[in-house]
Amino acid sequence: MGQSMVAIIEADCTGCDLCIPHCPFEALLPLLHSPEGREKPKRPVVVVEEQCVGCLSCIGSCPTQALHEVKTPPKAESSPLLKPSPRPATEVVNRWKKGGLRWA
Ligand code: SF4
Ligand code: SF4
Repeated sequence: MGQSMVAIIEADCTGCDLCIPHCPFEALLPLLHSPEGREKPKRPVVVVEEQCVGCLSCIGSCPTQALHEVKTPPKAESSPLLKPSPRPATEVVNRWKKGGLRWA
């Protein structure tokens, strides 16, 4: 049996940030800069793979279905949960200080 994690289809992500507070592990964060050639006005949110534990708490929080489950291979040595992609440059999201999201 393989593990699960999530991925975001960048072209379908509007950057609405609705998914961010649904992740208890702070694995959903906005990119610091929009990728070159992006057609949507707002930068996308990405999955920080080294933070994602595959709990799937975020599944269903995306109104455009850009966020979806990815089945990872059953062989542990090839799982992206163990070999994450390089961490992208992301914005800092205020969760707990004054004016923060406060939940998840
Ligand atoms: S699967 Fe869990 S850890 Fe991964 S991004 Fe979604 S809520 Fe966060
Ligand atoms: S909820 Fe969906 S569209 Fe909004 S930021 Fe998250 S992945 Fe992107």
